[in-house]
This record gives sequence, structure tokens and C-alpha cells, in this order.
Amino acid sequence: MTALSINKNASARPYVLCGTCVGIMDAVKEFIRSGGSTDLSSDKNPYVAQYLVPDLQRSGLNGCHVCSIISQALVPAHSNGDILTSSTLIVTIRIGKSYTGEEDRYGAKTHPNLDAWLRNEDGTRVHSRTIYITTDPGTHAAEPEDACWSISTESDTMFNLAKDWLHGCLSEHHLCEEVRLTAISSNQSSFPEYLVNVNEDSLRLCPSSSFSTWPSYLTLSHRWGESRIFTLMSQNLPSLLSEIPIDSLPKTFQDAVIITRRMGYSYIWIDSLCIIQDSKEHWEKESAIMGDIYRSSAFTIAALGATNGDSGCFKTRNPLCFQPFKFEAGPGRYDYLSSERERKSFKYTGYGTNVEPLHERGWVVQERMLSPRTLFYGSFGLYWECVQQEASSMITKRMSVTYVKYAIHQACNLAVSGIFDQSYRAFWQWWTTIITTYSPCGLTYGSDKLVAIGGIVRLAESKTGMHSVAGLWKEYLLPELLWFVERPSVRPIGAYQAPTWSWASLNTAVTPGIQDFNYSFSWKIKVLDVGTNVVSANGQISSAHIKISGPLLRVRYKKSGTNYQLRWGKIIPLVNSSDDRVCFLPDVIPDPVQELWALHIVCAVSTHAYMNMGIVVTKENDADDTWIRVGSFRQYDWPSNPTKFFQDGLAEMTTLVIL
Ligand SMILES: [Zn+2]
Ligand SMILES: [Zn+2]
Repeated sequence: MTALSINKNASARPYVLCGTCVGIMDAVKEFIRSGGSTDLSSDKNPYVAQYLVPDLQRSGLNGCHVCSIISQALVPAHSNGDILTSSTLIVTIRIGKSYTGEEDRYGAKTHPNLDAWLRNEDGTRVHSRTIYITTDPGTHAAEPEDACWSISTESDTMFNLAKDWLHGCLSEHHLCEEVRLTAISSNQSSFPEYLVNVNEDSLRLCPSSSFSTWPSYLTLSHRWGESRIFTLMSQNLPSLLSEIPIDSLPKTFQDAVIITRRMGYSYIWIDSLCIIQDSKEHWEKESAIMGDIYRSSAFTIAALGATNGDSGCFKTRNPLCFQPFKFEAGPGRYDYLSSERERKSFKYTGYGTNVEPLHERGWVVQERMLSPRTLFYGSFGLYWECVQQEASSMITKRMSVTYVKYAIHQACNLAVSGIFDQSYRAFWQWWTTIITTYSPCGLTYGSDKLVAIGGIVRLAESKTGMHSVAGLWKEYLLPELLWFVERPSVRPIGAYQAPTWSWASLNTAVTPGIQDFNYSFSWKIKVLDVGTNVVSANGQISSAHIKISGPLLRVRYKKSGTNYQLRWGKIIPLVNSSDDRVCFLPDVIPDPVQELWALHIVCAVSTHAYMNMGIVVTKENDADDTWIRVGSFRQYDWPSNPTKFFQDGLAEMTTLVIL
């Protein structure tokens, strides 16, 4: 990218082509003018171009718009960079055509496209991609002219864009400010104890006691990564109150300071500089109000593209890769060549806010959800999210309501009352997205599993009146116990995270067991008691139990391939073919010597499905009478002829305590 990164304010010039691409585009225009009748069969297609990968990329970096789009399509910027340096890979471009079925606005049913192949030296194919040519820039997309063509995300143009988003929000969005002013914790101070003052040339730490009124401040959402970063400790606290040496800060923090100043603010809160890292007491106090610290900030700077503290917020990129090449195919007719079929929203493509390194970190989920506004510094551009709007430097026209921030506002304002009422279903849908997003994220300390979403949980508790126990909603424990994992995970060792019956006990993607409420549910268990030992106000727990009474059946499991199935009783496998429909989904790879029992939780029936679901448990140890969860099961059957699983007298009503 060096060829383009001359200075911070350099811009790429769109619509410039190299000699080869002039030829390609002339052929494309010819095809369009001929009404799609040009013969493009491979031996007659004269418009074949061939490059070595580095030449294609160099041409893109030298400013050819189409070469930039082709290299982005073949070697996505997010993919492993190894392919970039492989000088022997050959790119072949050929004009192809696709039948759209429907006439476009110019009456054509056939569209040209560019077929791009990546091959090894010996001709074997690595992969191929289609570069689309459409007459529609996308319903929600602005014209490419409106996009930001800066090479660096530190350019004046980018800052002006960010200011425009912020000022638009401050002056027009009543809901965003209303959300910012709604504290999550009503009964305690929700202001952080320290802020970093960036007002002068030097930085210093300011204690909250020094303010008569609380100032506007920004927050930083970032990944520490493996790098050791400069932090606030009991020992350096006095010196940091007079000055924080800016040179000792990691690049990401230095960039955040620049952003804070340029956006017109004087204070920023950064976790590792504002929480005393060797004080458990200070950590517990500040982490308990972490949600409010983000929620009360003017906006959050998200170092989206930074894998660690040294990566920095600002990035250089080739903007030509991400913007369609707009060309006049005939008088008054414009077509768009793009590596994306549709340009509806960058949120749903490979360059948006959801695919970058920051989102692999667990804490980020609530930092993003609870901040009323977030300014994302991504690897390929800037993005904005507030409660009422989202925007992107790729498509600078303002976009519709952002789902992420608006959804929490909506979900938490639901009056959830009866079991499975409409409000609960809406709430559950939102909560499901939180669990599925959060559960696979990484955390440095397993003991933070429930702490890092504590702010979201407390907001939902205070708004809906429900209660969270170890990440499950107490009022709806029966369906919530049915979460499952697709593939066995590993039980984390070390610090206690959560009880085995909670999804928070694992660090893997979990899926809620019930996602469709259009069943008639027959619940088989009763929850007699549930409790947690809370360690501190930040939501961390040291132990938890649930006492359940329900039908328990001794089972065995059988593994075939990567699938597990349950067997029970003395039934010989295969005699009862429905055996195979009892799917066992172990939380962790099962220990062959463990004795397993299935606890039947629900029978769900609809006109087209009949399903038994429950969890699989084992005794924690032989002497003790406590149990742990090791997985879940589901049995599918036909509503017309359900098998008697759990109803053939083999299961015994049992009361068990699961830890
Ligand atoms: Zn070119
Ligand atoms: Zn707003």
C-alpha cells in the first residue's frame, strides 16, 4: 500500500484505468451496446487478460480502479496475506455473461460480467470469482461519487465526515441523547473515578473529585491483544495525576488521543489507564459500572481494525477496492462494476463493522450495545452507529436505523409478563442475538464471562423486571436450560465461570434450544430452587446450583462419525429405528466411563413436528449427590406416530441438584 500512502490527506482518483482495463471495459461496453448478442464463447472471446498477482495488485495501487476491484474480489483484504506475496499465481480475466431472468431498466436480460480466475503456474485452479456488472447501484447505496476516497482513515476528509455524523446526531436525534442520559445503575454513582485529560499538550489523569460538574468524555473500545501495554498501577498513580507520558502509550491509545482532540473533546476514558490494574477493589468497583461508563460517554471510539494495542486506530487502504466502477455504457446509461452483487449496506458485506478483529473480544459486545454512539475505525474505512442511525465512509449518505443499538433500547422497554407472551418472544429474539454473538468471543480471564456483559444484563433487569441467574433469565428457566452447542467444546480450566447448566460455562458458540414458539409445549420438569453465590457487585459468581425435579433416564451414547446418538434401556440398537433420531449434543467430548442420564425437559408438538428435548447429566462424583450437565439432546419424531421415549416407564421422577 506504500505506493498510495504518500500523505495523510492523499486521495485516490476513481475511474482511472490501466491500458489492459481500458481494453476490457471497451469490450464490456461493446457487449452492452450489442444487446448481449456478442459471442463470448471461450475460443472466440478476444477479451482475455492475464496477469501475475503482484502485477494486478501493483496496477490497483497505482490507481487502476478495475484492477483494484478485481484484486479485492480474488484476494479479499480480510484473507490471509500469504496469497499476496505469491508471485507465481496467475490471474485470468474473461468477459462472461449472466442471464438475469428479469429485464433491467434498460430492457436487457443478459448482463456481462468479468470472470476472474486465480491459477497456479501449472494451470490448476485456486479459485474464481465473478465481478458483477449491474445497472442498479443498490437501493440503499449512494452514488460512488459520494464515497470517501481518502487513502488514510486519518485524513481531514475522514474527520470532517465523522464530525458531520456526530453533529447530525447531536442536533437531530432525540433518542440517542435520551439513551445516553438513562443510567443503568440507579442506586450508585455511574461515573468513572478517573478520566484522561487530553486538553493540553501533555496528558494527565483527572480524579472525578476534581470536577464540580461531570464533563463530556469519550470512551475507547479496544483489544489489548498479547502486547504488554502501559497501565495505571497503584505505584504510578501519583505521577500519572500530573502527567501521563504519551510516548509510553500504545499506538492505539495515542491515536485515540488524536481523535478525541480533533473531535473537540478534552477527556477520554480508557480502561487500562483509568482502572488501577493491581487493585482488585478498584477493578470490582469500576467493572460494576462499566456499562454506565460507556453509556454516559458522548461517543465511543472503537479501534475496530486493531488486533492489539500496537496496531493503532488509523489505517491506510486502497479505497478503489471497495467502490463500484461507474461507467457510461451508452448515451445516458450508467452501469456499475463491483465485487459485490449488491451494495445495500456495508454492514452485510466483508468490509463492515461485524468482521473485524475487535469483535473477537468479549467485552466489546456491551461496549458496542450500551454506547449511545460509536465511531468505528475499521481496516477499510470509518463507520458510525448511534441509536437512530448508521453510516459508512464507503457510502456516505446516511443509512437507516442501526439494529444493534436500537434493538437493546426496544428490547429493554418491553413489558414482559406472561410466559411466552409476545413481549417475551421479542425480548428472547434480542437476547438470542446477544448470546450467539457473545458466547464465542474471547476473554483474557474466564471469570469475566458474566462480568463482561453485566451492563447489558443489569439494564435488561432494571427495565423488564426479570432476574438473571448465571446468564439465564430466572422467570424463563425452562426454555433457557435447553441451549446447545453444535460441536463439543472444552470445559475451561482455571477460574470459575458459571455453572454447567449455563451457556456461560463454555467459551464456544451456543444456540438457544427454542427459537420458534409456534409449538404446544408440555413441560416435564419443575425448578424447585436456583441460586448463585455472587462474589462482587460486578456480577461475578463463585458457584451456583439449580434443584430440579423431573423424569430421569439412564442412557448410553453411540458415536457415528462426528454425530452422537443416545440409547436407553435394554433396547437393542436398530430394533427401534427411532433411536437414531435421539440426537445427543455433548457440551464437551464425553468421557466414555461416565454414566449418563437424560433429563426430559419438554415435549414440543406442532402439526408438522414432534420433539422431545432435554439435557444430559452425570454425577459430579460417585460419593456426592450433585450433578453436572454434559450436553443436551433432542429427539425428532412424527406427530402422527410418536415413539414412547420417556413414556415407557423407564424414566424415574427424580430430584437432582445440578452445579
Ligand atoms: Zn487495470
Ligand atoms: Zn444519533
